[in-house]
Amino acid sequence: VRLKYYFKGLKRMSKYIDTHAHIYSEYYDDIPWLVKLITDMGVEKVINAGCDTKSNKEVLDLSKEYDALYCAIGIHPENVDDYTKEDLDYVEKHLNDHKVVAIGEIGLDYHYTKENKEKQIELFEYQLALAEKYHLPVVVHSRDATEDTINSLKKYKVTGVIHSFSGSLETANIYIKMGFALGINGVITFKNSKLKEVIAKIPLEKLVLETDSPYLSPEPKRGKTNDSTSVLIIAEFLANLYEFTPEIIGEKTTENALRIFDKLS
Ligand SMILES: [Zn+2]
Repeated sequence: VRLKYYFKGLKRMSKYIDTHAHIYSEYYDDIPWLVKLITDMGVEKVINAGCDTKSNKEVLDLSKEYDALYCAIGIHPENVDDYTKEDLDYVEKHLNDHKVVAIGEIGLDYHYTKENKEKQIELFEYQLALAEKYHLPVVVHSRDATEDTINSLKKYKVTGVIHSFSGSLETANIYIKMGFALGINGVITFKNSKLKEVIAKIPLEKLVLETDSPYLSPEPKRGKTNDSTSVLIIAEFLANLYEFTPEIIGEKTTENALRIFDKLS
């Protein structure tokens, strides 16, 4: 009941931005319905992130079809073993499209293996150089690779968002000092997560809302298919943490997102 009350209020009063989602037909079979649901709930803009050429093409096409959908394009580290130069050229060719607001999802992921780390760094840094050249922010995926991520980012004049941030306060402060904002999603609501204690000490100006949908549904929907309306749940969670209202969380994080991603406004 309480959630419903907030949803009603939010719909009337606030605008939200989901700075990280994967809206692909592979995950959602009724995208027109989904986009209507999202915007009806007050989520005005979504940054739909690609991972490879297939999804980069799809997020570009969807951004042309729906006002609310913007996109980030890039080659995700999980594709390090099979991307080609053509895939990188495809990304570069579309960076000036007016709804491409960032290069992403890019980064380093050593969770399953570190064996290909040199190749991952090469792919990541190639795209960081593109971001610098085209003056675009980056959306960074970093998993079990904090030190190398920081080292790579330091070599380029780039800013953007550390997507799905879940590190220590020390790491958070390093990223913030480098000019990055932290992307907060359903992970912060997980029962065993210590992230809330870290984020409570971070100024709200340094946070943006995201979902990583269809993944990372917040409690109590954990494990189910996520969608961009979950930014309202994250906003409510942060409202309790910061002792603000969800409306203020929405307003501030929207301002932050618009500041980071120029081409969103
Ligand atoms: Zn993602």
